[in-house]
Amino acid sequence: MIIKLKQQLVKTSLRLVEKGLVVATWGNLSIREEKKQVFVITPSGMPYEKLNPEDMVTLDFKGNVLEGERKPSTETPLHLEIYKAREDVKAIIHTHSIFASACAVSRVAIPPVIEDLASLVGGSVDIADYALPGSEELAKNALKALGEKNAVLLANHGVIAVGPTVDEAFKTACLVEKAACIFINAHLVGVPKVISKEDVKTLRNYYVNKYGQK
Ligand code: 13P
Ligand code: ZN
Repeated sequence: MIIKLKQQLVKTSLRLVEKGLVVATWGNLSIREEKKQVFVITPSGMPYEKLNPEDMVTLDFKGNVLEGERKPSTETPLHLEIYKAREDVKAIIHTHSIFASACAVSRVAIPPVIEDLASLVGGSVDIADYALPGSEELAKNALKALGEKNAVLLANHGVIAVGPTVDEAFKTACLVEKAACIFINAHLVGVPKVISKEDVKTLRNYYVNKYGQK
């Protein structure tokens, strides 16, 4: 049901504000509806605290607005490109979180220095080449740097976290920010050491197949 997705977007928007991952009206999020071949996205430039389910906008995968009175997020092209390229992605969260943005500004990727990040993202959080917000170029650059992983940094801009559910994408957005904070602070006490490629793979496999109540 589309209404459920709209409610989930409102709820998750408030969680993003509560966690301090977004400020004012920046950032955006969307959820894919499998059967109807549509996705629902937050409106452009509206304060998160004031969002109602009816402010959400439903689009098809050609970018046509099917439902909603509001103007959809300016990053709709980016969400669209990711959904078209990644069948496994059911939700996308774009934040401007502070520590991750510091890495994005310095254009330094966040390496897999901490196990929870390695488990969720499946490797480093790389940097997409700079392009203006809302541009098709940004969408292409982001998709290229994202690859098969679950998060990417947008140069001088922020973070994209994706996942098989909106809760999972939210978790990833939180963990990217936590890892960025740890990575930056680790430089104060020493030289951060990166988890080996092999161990990252093992951690990711374990997370996907065994971790939790599986
Ligand atoms: P919207 O308010 O249009 O979603 O844009 C915010 C943003 O973060 C642009 O990158
Ligand atoms: Zn943005």
